[in-house]
Amino acid sequence: MSTQAGDQLAPDDLARTLDGAGYRMTDARRAVVGLIASRDGTFDTADLVADARRRHVPAARATIFRTLEILAAVGAVERLDLPNGEHSYVRCDTRGHHHHLVCTDCQRSVDLEELGMATITTDVERRTGYVIDRHRLELFGLCPNCQIRTPS
Ligand SMILES: [Zn+2]
Ligand SMILES: [Zn+2]
Ligand SMILES: [Zn+2]
Repeated sequence: MSTQAGDQLAPDDLARTLDGAGYRMTDARRAVVGLIASRDGTFDTADLVADARRRHVPAARATIFRTLEILAAVGAVERLDLPNGEHSYVRCDTRGHHHHLVCTDCQRSVDLEELGMATITTDVERRTGYVIDRHRLELFGLCPNCQIRTPS
């Protein structure tokens, strides 16, 4: 297996996360984890099914789906609602609460810190009387690489 780039999560890290959360690491799950670890940016179940087929990895669609659910439950991947109404998954290299900035062209994703949301939610609580206990925020746009490429 080739070495992962520095900011990427190695398959072993994902496997350890599952182990630590008490999930049994079957060969099929390990195979799916490998597919996810080599993904850059957002992906969906169909992408992983195609990856598995192309790389001759024996992972059934049901296994891929179930493994994604487990990884989402432990916070290693996150399910994103895209602006076009579809959804996809992204691998989380950050643990704990964070946000994503996703390129709408190449689907590359960056994990972001809280971005001053605490100030905003406090202000909204004061103005509405609600007690806010969670929020979701994803940002979408063009990454530097995709800005350079002129649209055809
Ligand atoms: Zn994330
Ligand atoms: Zn891009
Ligand atoms: Zn936040």
